[in-house]
Amino acid sequence: MAKILDGKKIARQIEQELQAEVLELKKRGIIPGLAVILVGDDIASEIYVRNKEVASKRLGLYSEVYKLENKITEKELLDLIKKLNKKKKIHAVLVQLPLPDHISEEKIVEAISPRKDVDCFHPKNIGKLAIGNGLFYSCTPAGIMELLKRYGLKVSGKEAVVVGASNIVGKPLALMLLNAGATVTICHDKTQNLKEKCLRADILISAVGKVGLITSDMVKQGAVVIDVGMNRGVKAKLRGDVDFKEVNKIAGAMTPVPGGIGPMTIAELLKNTIKAAKLNSIL
Ligand code: NAD
Repeated sequence: MAKILDGKKIARQIEQELQAEVLELKKRGIIPGLAVILVGDDIASEIYVRNKEVASKRLGLYSEVYKLENKITEKELLDLIKKLNKKKKIHAVLVQLPLPDHISEEKIVEAISPRKDVDCFHPKNIGKLAIGNGLFYSCTPAGIMELLKRYGLKVSGKEAVVVGASNIVGKPLALMLLNAGATVTICHDKTQNLKEKCLRADILISAVGKVGLITSDMVKQGAVVIDVGMNRGVKAKLRGDVDFKEVNKIAGAMTPVPGGIGPMTIAELLKNTIKAAKLNSIL
């Protein structure tokens, strides 16, 4: 049986460590402030935003949540971002993606001040991440790297296969693994012979959003398997991309869903918000 990488437990440890930093900042009169913008009524996005709000309150951060109607114009959203970029109490600004079709994600992401861009979506921040000198690191990939580190799982010199090549998970993760010394293969929906590529992996990460995509015959004996997928199954039960029961018999270590990368992502967001508070305050 594989060792279970308990993201929930490690995320709580990180939060405890961050608590000390928050108290230190409070002594200097700084309360890290996070603004979260949600457009529309996508249920999954609402859950993610609520989880972020609860976690920031738990840590004693200041938070503002803007729930905007689907019909909001691009201009109105840009104006709100401009206001938040200037607002002193707000050190971090996050726009929950996806956005409705009539709003350009590219324009919105580029409007967020790079110094407040705690999701690391801005091209300037992605560029800095690529050269290994990030101001912020994308929360989900950073959560994966941190989980591997805290369990003492070596990355340098390993074969890493990332399935899924989105701008928010797959691509930044591949860059971070590369910068950590892994040999990286990135797979996506046009990849031929996915099974053959996955079987190379010492570290296999799936960030696709398809239940049961990664089956046990795609996993090398003893591999580390990280499941980023968050799929709402029957009765809204959360499920990953990996066939947990069968892969558990082959892998050396693996993350569960829920309780794996989800909580680690939130811990990294809190970490970035505290970093942004330090960056955007005169200490
Ligand atoms: P996305 O839809 O933007 O990207 C999906 C990627 O998967 C694309 O690169 C696509 O080419 C690839 N893909 C699709 N079908 C494939 C197939 N059959 N084989 C190989 N690759 C395939 O998704 P995203 O925003 O990166 O999210 C991916 C998953 O991760 C979703 O389930 C999402 O809910 C989850 N997610 C979880 C967290 C977390 O905190 N745990 C954070 C972000 C995203």
